[in-house]
This record gives sequence, structure tokens and C-alpha cells, in this order.
Amino acid sequence: MVNYIIVTGGVISGLGKGITTASIGKILQLHGYKTTAMKIDPYMNFDAGTLRPTEHGEVWVTEDGGEIDQDLGHYERFLDINIPKYHNITTGQVYSAVIDKERKGKYLGKTVQPIPHVTDEIKVRIRRPANENGWDFVLVEIGGTVGDYENVLFLEAVRQMKQGGDKVVFVHVTYVPMLDALGEAKTKPTQHSVKQLREIGIMPDFIITRSEKTLDNVRREKIAMFCNVHPDDVISNEDVDNIYGVSLLFEKQDLCRKILKKLNLRKDTNNLEEWKNFIRKISRLQNTIKIGIVGKYFDIGTSQLSDSYISVIEAVKHAAWNNNVEPVISWIDSKEFENDPRNLRNLDNLDGIIVPGGFGLSGIDGKIATIRYCRENGIPYLGLCLGMQLAVVEYARNACGLRDAHSTEIDKKTPHPVIDFIPEQITILQESRYGATMRLGAYPAILKKGSIIQKLYDSDNVSERHRHRYEVNPEYVEKLERCGIVFSGRSPDGVLMEFMELPKHPYFVGTQAHPEFKSRPLKPAPLFDGLIKAAKKKKIV
Ligand code: GLN
Repeated sequence: MVNYIIVTGGVISGLGKGITTASIGKILQLHGYKTTAMKIDPYMNFDAGTLRPTEHGEVWVTEDGGEIDQDLGHYERFLDINIPKYHNITTGQVYSAVIDKERKGKYLGKTVQPIPHVTDEIKVRIRRPANENGWDFVLVEIGGTVGDYENVLFLEAVRQMKQGGDKVVFVHVTYVPMLDALGEAKTKPTQHSVKQLREIGIMPDFIITRSEKTLDNVRREKIAMFCNVHPDDVISNEDVDNIYGVSLLFEKQDLCRKILKKLNLRKDTNNLEEWKNFIRKISRLQNTIKIGIVGKYFDIGTSQLSDSYISVIEAVKHAAWNNNVEPVISWIDSKEFENDPRNLRNLDNLDGIIVPGGFGLSGIDGKIATIRYCRENGIPYLGLCLGMQLAVVEYARNACGLRDAHSTEIDKKTPHPVIDFIPEQITILQESRYGATMRLGAYPAILKKGSIIQKLYDSDNVSERHRHRYEVNPEYVEKLERCGIVFSGRSPDGVLMEFMELPKHPYFVGTQAHPEFKSRPLKPAPLFDGLIKAAKKKKIV
């Protein structure tokens, strides 16, 4: 029978509940249990597809084309599994299903109410992964903070699950602030938050405290006393250098065994060695590599920035660790180069550059200038989606003599639309159907034998995840290839250019896909691995 671990949050948002959930999942998995995770996002949006990355961070893309909150990315990376889109539940999805059923008369004349009809719909969705795939553990992270209006029906649904006989363990993640003026960690916010949780009928089995430093025994006892849990079930989750190390922090406090005991589960195969070695290795790396990410979501301050590109950052880390270096990532606002092109020389201080995915007009000229500088000065370059499209634009203009070539996303009247709509996108946009209508999810590509990219993948046939509306215009492919671009990967019908490279450059590679979504700590994405290898060579020279 499946076991559910329900993770709720208290005190403040942004506690790292996603990492906490993924880390609990990781230790369960390493102790021999088949584990997956789900995320509940209590917002009214149907999915994250129409959300700006500055709202909730990056939009994560699943194999089956879901556009979802970034936490699903943490789960995939930590658990090394693909998670389908139905593992994300939003208020929008739940209400739309309930209203749809009501319109079809499925409630047989009953008054349709939040309890039981909305909560029943939520329970069906939470139970679906276990019903379909037979997991030992399903972790369910409930977004938001206890006390919010918007997640109250989700909390009610999981309360009903426990009361109705499902095997459920409740984990409440809270914040224990350390006030400088007092020099003391304070537990009162945690006490209040657990009080709110108990008011709605949920007794936490474990309280996980996020804090700067390890929770001391005095505070542990206090939380236990006021929150009605055993002191052993108060787990410290202090700041650590590396998010992948959180799982070992839990392991040290025996969290897995304590969970198993509460559920009367006896099997316990310990497979931690490889993971422990990995964490040990990455904590000891001496040499660094400097990678610049030329992005756009800078206007809202640096704190949100890394969230907008989290999978790119993680993919850089995985590849760097695989090559025994610690990455130092710099954020570069491409507008710097628009204001003063002399700033481009600063790029010489970097070992490799990435232009990641993006939408809209701002900073485009600066990105094109960056790409040209990398191409002309032998700086290793990886272009992701928009980063590949702009590499094609730059090459068309400056190496093929196609003046003012552009993407029609940016310049509708360009004389040389080297990047243009995927044909089916035209009507979609005319009808303003923005949700879930891009080219989304995993698509296969056939790689050109002997190309740099084919060697990196070590395969002729690859599949990567996509999220875009524009493509290399097939009418320009021949011309561009004649001037030196190699389109080293195409869709199986040969029409869509999925990968490109410049063979004479130390490393100039682009893809229409987002390989960052498939990078895992112990299995780096090949194109990122290639970038780091080239960057290491550049550094030595
Ligand atoms: N805006 C571009 C497109 O829609 C690139 C998208 C992306 O980088 N994900 O095709």
C-alpha cells in the first residue's frame, strides 16, 4: 500500500520546501523505497505556462509537455526520475474539473460544494500516481504557507485522507529566525504556525526547522513541548553549502528510519554510498571554472534572478562537478553591451558563456553582440533555445552577409526572417490561445554522424524537451549551411533544425531544446558537459 508524506510550510514562504521535499524523497529512495513526488500549487492558474519567470521562478517543462512550477525540477533532479505533468495540481485544474462535471450533470442534482466535491476531486488527483504506478512513497508538497486562504481546501483534503485510512505522515517545515540583536533562535513563529495547522485538524508527525545554524537542544525541547511532537521528531534543516547535501543532514538525524517506524515499514536497504561519495567529492573541489550567463530577468533585483534560470544553473553545476571543477557563475545583463560595446571585453575573463532561453525584445542586441564576441574570439559558447536562435541571426548577419537578418519574434519586417514561426503557431497566436500551446515537451532529433554534438551525446538519436514558438526558417537552411553553420541535429522529418554547431570554433554549440531539464547530479547534460570541457581547455591556454 502506498504511503503519503504530506509536506506543509509555515511562518514564511521561500523556505526551501521543495528542496526539503526532494531531500526526504532522496533518503527514502536510497533506503530502497520506490519514491515519487507531487506539487500542489494553490493558485488559480491552470498551470505555470503563462506565468512570468519573475513570479515563481523558472517554468519547468516535463517530458509530456507540462509547464510547471520549478519544484518539480528539484524532484526530478534529486530522484533521477521523469515526473509527468499530472503530478502538479493547481486550484485552476481542480475547479475547472469540478465545474465541467457539474455542467455535465455528473453530480446528479446535488449542491456542489467545496467540501466534499472539491476536496474529493483533490483526493482523486493526489491518489492518481499511486493508482497508476504503484509507488511505495508519494511525497505531496502543498505550496504556500499554513494560514493562507488559498491552500485551505488542499489541507482539508489531506486531513480527510489520513482520517479515511490512507497511510499518511505529515511533515511541517517552518522557519526559526535568529535575531542578531538577541543572539538567540526564536521558536514562537513555529509554535504559532503549528497551532494553525492543528486548528484545521492536522497534527504534524515531524517538524523540520529551517534556520541558519543547527537547532540546539533547548529549542528542540521547546518546539516539542509546545507543538506536541517528540523531540526526536524535530529535525534541524540548517543552511548547508550544497542543496544536494540536505538529504545527508536528514540521514544523520535518522529521519528515514523514524518515518519508516511510524508507518510500520520494515524493509531498509541502505544504498547511500554512491550519493555520499558524490557529496564528499563536490565539497572538496579546489579548482574553479567561470561561466557567464547572459540573461534578461534582471530588472527585479538579483534575489529572484537565479530562480528564473535554476535548471540552467543546476545543469552547469552537474557538468562542472563531473569535470572536477566548481563553477563560479556570473550574471551578465546584456544591456551593458548595448550601452557601451567596450564592455564586451569583460567577457575575456570568463571561461564559457551561455545565452539561455527567453522571450520578448529586451536586451536582444546585447545578446547578439555577446554571441558575435564569443564566435570571433574563440570563447566557448552554448546557446539554449533563444540562445541558438540568436546565434543563427548573428551568423546570418555577420558571416553570411544577410543584412538585418532577424527573428520575426523581434523584428516582424526583417528582410531575412532566418528565425520564424513554426507554421501551426500562427493561428494559435491570432486567437490569443497562449496557455499550453507552444511546442512543448520531449521531441526526438536525429544527429549528424561525426558532428561535435553527436559525439557528445554518443548517440545518433536523442530526445530533449522543448518550449518555444519559433524555429530556424527552413528556407534559409541551405544558405546558412553554405556559409559554415552545421545543423547537426534535425527533427526526424528533417524539417526542424534542433541543433547547430560551428566546427572550426573551440566550442560553439546551440540547441532549440532545453537540455538543462534532463541534467541530473550524476548524469550531466552532454552539451553542458561539452561546454565545461571546452572551458577548462580555454582556462589552461
Ligand atoms: N522566444 C523564443 C521562441 O518562442 C525562444 C523561447 C525559448 O528560449 N524558450 O521560440
